[in-house]
Amino acid sequence: ANNFWNPVINIGNFYNQLITCSAYLERIFETLDVKPEITDRPGARDLPAIQGRVDFNDVVFRYEEGGRTILNLVDFHVAPGRTIALVGPTGAGKTTIVNLLSRFYDVSEGSVTIDGHDVRDVTLASLRRQMGVMLQDTFIFSGNVRENIRYGRLDATDEDIEAAAKAVHAHEFIMELPDGYDTAVEERGSTLSAGQRQLIAFARVLLADPRILILDEATSNIDTRTEEALQAGLNHLLKGRTSFIIAHRLSTIENADEIFYIDHGQIVEHGSHAELLAEHGAYWRLYESQYAMIRSSVGADRAA
Ligand code: ADP
Repeated sequence: ANNFWNPVINIGNFYNQLITCSAYLERIFETLDVKPEITDRPGARDLPAIQGRVDFNDVVFRYEEGGRTILNLVDFHVAPGRTIALVGPTGAGKTTIVNLLSRFYDVSEGSVTIDGHDVRDVTLASLRRQMGVMLQDTFIFSGNVRENIRYGRLDATDEDIEAAAKAVHAHEFIMELPDGYDTAVEERGSTLSAGQRQLIAFARVLLADPRILILDEATSNIDTRTEEALQAGLNHLLKGRTSFIIAHRLSTIENADEIFYIDHGQIVEHGSHAELLAEHGAYWRLYESQYAMIRSSVGADRAA
C-alpha cells in the first residue's frame, strides 16, 4: 500500500485488530463507525459454525464506483485447513484480498463465500467471530500481557492463557519481561518488539480458536530468536485452520500449501514453492532477488 493511503489503512488495521478480540469488542466495533457502508443486510443471518472453506468467485473490486480496478477477476477455491501464502509486489492487491474476506469492503462484482455462504448475507459479528485477523504492527491494548491475551476469550483462566502462550512459543519471552504476564504494555509503546507483539496476538487468537486466520507477517527487525519462536508458534497456530498469510518470511512461504503470486490485482501464478520455482516465472524471480541471497548469507554466517 502506498503512503497516501496509510491513514485509511491504519484505521482499517486498528479495526481489524479489534475484531480478533470479538465478543464484547463487537460493541466497540458497532460504535466506531468507520465504514458505514458495510453493515448487516436486512434479514442477515448468523454464519453457522464453519469448517473454513473459502471461495472467491470472479471477484472484481474497486474502492470507489468508477474508480480504478484493484482486483480483476480473482477466482480461487480453498479447502478447509489449507495455508495460503500471498506474495507479490507492494500495491498488488494482497491486503485488499484479505479485507474482502473479512468484509471490510464489499466486492464490486462476483462474490466471496465461506462454506458456501456469501459474506454479504451473514451478520458481521458472526463472520468476524470466526476469523482471527492479525495485521502488521499488531494491536496491543494498554494493560498487561495477560489481559492482552485474554481478549481472545474473555472467560479464559490464567492457566488457559499460559497454555496458549506456551503453545505458540510466546511464554519464553514473556517470562523474561520485568513482571512476566503482569508486565504493563502500551498501545503504541516500545515495551514489545513487533515480533513479540505478533507472538502475543498468536496466543490471543489461539484462545479465540477461529477456523479462518488472516495474518500479515511482521517484518521489521526481528531477531533470530523471536523469528524462531514466530515460526514454531505459527506452525502450531495454523493447524486445523484455513489461513491466508501475507507472507514475508521465507519459511512461511515455503511451508504454505499453496502460494498465490499476486500482481496488478490478479493471481498470476499459484502452486507450491517447488512448483513455482520450477516455473521460472515471477515467483522464481522474487525468490532469486530476495530470498536466495538471504539464504546463502545466512548459510555463510552459520558456517562461519
Ligand atoms: P498490497 O497489500 O499487495 O501491497 P493493497 O491491497 O494494499 O496491496 O493495494 C492494492 C491497490 O489498492 C494499491 O494500488 C493501493 O494504492 C490501492 N488502495 C489500497 N487501499 C485503498 C483505499 N482505501 N482506497 C483506494 N485505493 C486503495
